[in-house]
Amino acid sequence: MPGRAVSPASTRKVDMTLSDRTALVTGAGRGIGRAIARRLARDGAAVIVNYATSAEQAASLVKEIEADGGDAWTEQADVANLAQVDDLFTRIRARTDRVDVLVNNAGRGAGGMPTLAATTPAIYDSTFGLNARGLFFVTQRAVELMPDGGRVISISSGSSSTRQPGLSAYAGSKAAIEAFTRVWATELAPRKVTVNAVVPGIVDTDLIRNGMTPQLAEHYGSLVPLGRLGQPEDIADVVAFLAGDDARWITGQCVTASGGA
Ligand code: NAP
Repeated sequence: MPGRAVSPASTRKVDMTLSDRTALVTGAGRGIGRAIARRLARDGAAVIVNYATSAEQAASLVKEIEADGGDAWTEQADVANLAQVDDLFTRIRARTDRVDVLVNNAGRGAGGMPTLAATTPAIYDSTFGLNARGLFFVTQRAVELMPDGGRVISISSGSSSTRQPGLSAYAGSKAAIEAFTRVWATELAPRKVTVNAVVPGIVDTDLIRNGMTPQLAEHYGSLVPLGRLGQPEDIADVVAFLAGDDARWITGQCVTASGGA
């Protein structure tokens, strides 16, 4: 119906398709991770809200989920730090014996869009250290706690196939996620664990607001065929689909959600 506004499922009442499941969402205090955690909780999952620095926002999200009748708790950990990842899973194991759904959302840009010449080893290591290495070992720990039929969903980026100058470290770290996804899908198939990635185009979060003027953000939004910047809920709804039973036959896929860009 032309012109009819359609609200994302995240803002509507949804079925409790994830009842009795526990989901871990990394970087869930802000941005896309926050929308994912909120949506999975609405679908009935008990959500572990991981954060690195946004303690207040993570706590407010848990309150919001509980006020909505859901179940969630916070766990602080820098998921690029493997000692902290081990501590995180020790704490998770003390509270639950299962992680049914892992959403690898925590991620960072390389900052300042450094070209090849300007990318220092420190920039490279911090970008790959979180986006690729951290994600790799969080997944390794999480699948130990994952029952058959579980879900691994990682947030990649349309940048994984970009040619845009200044994005090589970020793009490379996101391309690694897509490669991990395909291989892990095969490795975990005997356990009926599905492994997929969501590949967002530009999404209106701090990640882009801190890196560009509002005018430039609006300009990028106008270039999206569907006519606007993506919103965190646009990504959360795709994650919720992949987490649910309707996506049982989808594995090893990188699903682009970009408004056609
Ligand atoms: P954001 O607003 O900058 O939020 C980043 C999130 O990652 C925060 O919750 C942050 O937690 C968390 N985080 C960062 N470092 C962490 C660490 N070491 N350990 C644990 N959590 C950490 O970014 P966003 O736009 O929501 O991005 C979320 C994901 O989507 C990222 O993987 C990003 O690459 C991807 N993505 C974003 C876009 C976009 O246009 N926005 C497009 C494609 C892909 P704290 O606040 O607690 O530190």
